[in-house]
Amino acid sequence: MSDASRAWARRLGALHLSSHDEGLAGTVVSNPTNLRYLVGFAGSTALLVAADAGDWLVTDGRYDAAVREAVAAERMAPVQVERVELRYDLTLAGLIARLGLRQVGFDAGHVTVATLETWRRATSTAGVDWRATEGVVERLRLVKDEQEIAVFRRAGPALADVARHLGLWVRAGRTEREVAKDIDAAIERAGFSGPAFPTIVASGPNSALPHARPGDRRLAAGDLVVLDFGGVLDGYCVDLTRMAGIRPVGSNAAAIVTAVQSAHRAALGAVRPGVQGVEVDRAARAALEALGLGPAFLHGTGHGLGLEVHEAPRLSRTGTGAADRLDAGTVCTIEPGAYVEGLGGARLEDDVLVTAAGYEVLTEAPRDLLVV
Ligand code: ZN
Ligand code: ZN
Repeated sequence: MSDASRAWARRLGALHLSSHDEGLAGTVVSNPTNLRYLVGFAGSTALLVAADAGDWLVTDGRYDAAVREAVAAERMAPVQVERVELRYDLTLAGLIARLGLRQVGFDAGHVTVATLETWRRATSTAGVDWRATEGVVERLRLVKDEQEIAVFRRAGPALADVARHLGLWVRAGRTEREVAKDIDAAIERAGFSGPAFPTIVASGPNSALPHARPGDRRLAAGDLVVLDFGGVLDGYCVDLTRMAGIRPVGSNAAAIVTAVQSAHRAALGAVRPGVQGVEVDRAARAALEALGLGPAFLHGTGHGLGLEVHEAPRLSRTGTGAADRLDAGTVCTIEPGAYVEGLGGARLEDDVLVTAAGYEVLTEAPRDLLVV
């Protein structure tokens, strides 16, 4: 049995356990990211029916053969394949009736009202009782297993290495878009399958906008430049932000970066196993408030990372939920920022793995303002 097979078996086992706890005879998983996590399915459309009698993947002719092959080669969990000939709801209903399932869970956060209605109609004669569940697989995804942590320990340093080379691409006179293209190329050269999200290069006035898209603006003297980029490795996302400045950088602009550095340190200082996301956010916020930049901090301090670039936990003012606790094995970003209209903005972002002893920074690279 490979490490991947063991991981899928463990994850499916946890799903079955949680179904039992909820009094369900089976659970239908529809979110593609959750399917990838549970059984290694990498396509866009399928349904997993997890029941006592086994695990079935309901999918159509586009994936049928590939899935059977992947299962045989142990590149997927040992699911049985139920091929959709006409419509997903009909095949799903047929399978549920054959298995004799009554109480069936579905993901309320993913199944639309319209889809649920078609499932209800298709299963009405079988007397299926559809029960809404919420975030069951997402909760499993929160704490990374050894195999996922191994991916992060390769991905973090690889992305940090791209950050160390930013000085090659950031220069006065170049456009934001040109710099972004160079970063994207470096992300691919570093072994990532691609960027985790559209790379942000935000210069001068654009740096004061937390989610600016790179445009045709040319980097000019005095600019602060926010460089925020990420990569996907073996399906897992890492995410990093560093700051550059175009010579000469004014003292007020440089002070924003210094303030964000202190907020970043304060946030890291608050990371420990069991801490609530809101507490880490509070530490970063307090550091910026002390410097008069409280109102300039326009977003949360961080987010979880995994198969998606934004997932639980939330390190923000709303990070008070059960899924927002930083247990050992959680991977999240620390990314305070400050944005001042007319002056510019700054953000510094690293990825950390929460450990039993504290934390490990996965994206270690200098956080100084890179002045070019
Ligand atoms: Zn980012
Ligand atoms: Zn981020």
